[in-house]
Amino acid sequence: MNRTFLETPIEYLKGVGPQRADVLKKELKVFTFEDLLSYFPFRYVDRTKFYKIRELTPDLPYVQIKGTIEEYDTVGKKGSQRLVALFKDETGYIELVWFKGAKWVTKSLKLGEECTVFGKPVIFKNRFNITHPEIEYASEKNEALPSSSLQAIYSTTEKLKSKGLESRGIARLMKTLISNCDNELPEILSNSITGNLKLISREEAIKNIHFPENTDLLAKAQFRLKFEELFFIQLGILRYKLNREKNIKGHVFSKVGDYLNKFYKEKLPFELTNAQKRVIKEIRADIGSSKQMNRLLQGDVGSGKTLVALMTMLIALDNDFQACLMAPTEVLANQHFETISKMLEGLNIKIALLTGSTKSAERKSILDKLNCGELQILLGTHALIEENVQFKNLGIVVIDEQHKFGVEQRAKLWKKNQIPPHILVMTATPIPRTLAMTFYGDLDKSVIDEMPPGRKTIKTIHIYDIEKFKVYKFMRDQINQGRQIYIVYPLIKESEKLDLKHLQEGYESLIKEFPLPKYAISCCHGQMKTKDKETEMERFAKGITNIMVATTVIEVGIDVANATAMVIESAERFGLSQLHQLRGRVGRGGEQSYCILISSPKLTNDAKIRMQTMTRTNDGFEIAEADLRLRGPGDMAGTQQSGIIDLKIADLIRDEKLISVSRNIASDVLSSDPQLQKEENRNIRKHFINLNKNKPNWSRIS
Ligand code: ADP
Ligand code: MG
Repeated sequence: MNRTFLETPIEYLKGVGPQRADVLKKELKVFTFEDLLSYFPFRYVDRTKFYKIRELTPDLPYVQIKGTIEEYDTVGKKGSQRLVALFKDETGYIELVWFKGAKWVTKSLKLGEECTVFGKPVIFKNRFNITHPEIEYASEKNEALPSSSLQAIYSTTEKLKSKGLESRGIARLMKTLISNCDNELPEILSNSITGNLKLISREEAIKNIHFPENTDLLAKAQFRLKFEELFFIQLGILRYKLNREKNIKGHVFSKVGDYLNKFYKEKLPFELTNAQKRVIKEIRADIGSSKQMNRLLQGDVGSGKTLVALMTMLIALDNDFQACLMAPTEVLANQHFETISKMLEGLNIKIALLTGSTKSAERKSILDKLNCGELQILLGTHALIEENVQFKNLGIVVIDEQHKFGVEQRAKLWKKNQIPPHILVMTATPIPRTLAMTFYGDLDKSVIDEMPPGRKTIKTIHIYDIEKFKVYKFMRDQINQGRQIYIVYPLIKESEKLDLKHLQEGYESLIKEFPLPKYAISCCHGQMKTKDKETEMERFAKGITNIMVATTVIEVGIDVANATAMVIESAERFGLSQLHQLRGRVGRGGEQSYCILISSPKLTNDAKIRMQTMTRTNDGFEIAEADLRLRGPGDMAGTQQSGIIDLKIADLIRDEKLISVSRNIASDVLSSDPQLQKEENRNIRKHFINLNKNKPNWSRIS
């Protein structure tokens, strides 16, 4: 077989038998030599530094301590048992704790023998302990490992440990592998890139990332490996984008006709903001050319995205195409239907709403009219992407609140071998720049960065629940001035019942505070029938009720300009972007609006940061960045479903600058050599092909 050294299956490595090969594959997805070499350490410890137990503080990272294990015991109830060992040095005692793998750990413990313990000290019940430490006994000190002062720490699992692959076990395998690697790690970048960025060679980088000779070389190794990781990601994204632009044709909407003109002249109730004008221009440039538009329209809640979408749809109609708009929830779809129908009154446009609750007779009629082209605009929910929804000539798809729609769902909107419609994805959740450059790097982006005039900045206040009486007073003041108020309770799937109870109790105490006939309260939650929910929302929207008590069902959507206060109960249980979305429900009219975050005084650090961020800023972009910092990219809206990038060494937050550098360089490479055919890009081409050989095609249309 003609495979390279790096492609060698991991079981061929000395020290890896069938059992270890098995856990390496299952636990770490390490199948080949190359996979193992790319299993990078997550931190390094200074092997020359030993701590005394008395010196421990809870904010220390990994430490090593010399001492002896005195005794051990299994404690706790069955099912939640743990193994606890008492470890001592000349300055004190700490506990070593294992929650898993007690059986094999017990076997390996040697009482009274000098050993070194590695791990992160944490305080539990006023005592230091180290959970799942690594232990190295003096008698088995591993001479095979170099005595460099920086030692790599690999993350590992109990299953790996039970096969002797704790961090040091992995390091031992790495040592064996690297000692066989001479001349097996060819360059994958071009000379001009390595020269310009002063990168060390790949071989040197890989050796030093696992066994750093010194801190300087470690830093250089990290820089080089991060760069190459990001560079090849960018190369993939940009090449895909180029190919799509070149190979996929889009409908050409060449003219602006009566629909748009009439709407603009007669129906538009206000002047467009400059940002809206600019964005419409950007969109028109796309749809007027022969390219297929794939555009992300980003704009904070209330910035007027719907109007931009509507005008884009009218251009499609002017060119004899159909348009559709998908919303993530039925309530929102209904609201779009209402506002859009109203705005289009008198223009003689056929528009319909299709959701899960559309009756079957009406549904049939809608589908027929859609099919023969009589229906021009279809609004709805997921129901729009069902198999039997067939358009005659769909020209544009607008997707509101992109994070709720998966890539595949979008792709279902058109058939293969058909010119795909233009896609406009609207999102109010700003995407941090680093994410935008990686996960959404293939989409074009338009940003509405200006609010319609006359809006006042929403004031945000954080208070503890013991002071709720102040909030009630404030609410009465607002209501007496004729304003309306939202009160939102958290709703988290796992404990829906409990949350509902929480909401109902809140509702009951509110009724006491705000009794009829002076006050009227609406209530909306996820377990109500759609019809009932709508009636309630309707009552609130019409001003019949003063207060809307709700769960996050109102997060996206409803638009009541007279509502000036958003009171959020148990605010600490909401994520930052959710809080920001909720806050965006108020401040839609000309009055001063308020957002009041009520929380318990006991807050985790993260919750404190969330509250502080909300009171500090109204800037959705800043909030998204803070959210990314708190939660990490894995949780960010949209990334779960994209499932494209698993960064091995680069970090979306810390390496922001390097991401732009790599993107620019990848773009330069492709603009001078789109097919990577030039001799100077040979290494790049070879590695790029290799990388994409086994990858599922993560490229996408929208
Ligand atoms: P988004 O979808 O971006 O959250 P909407 O499109 O729902 O925002 O707009 C929010 C409100 O602002 C709506 O009531 C809309 O009619 C109004 N609006 C939109 N554009 C303008 C504008 N240029 N001037 C004044 N009001 C506007
Ligand atoms: Mg909207």
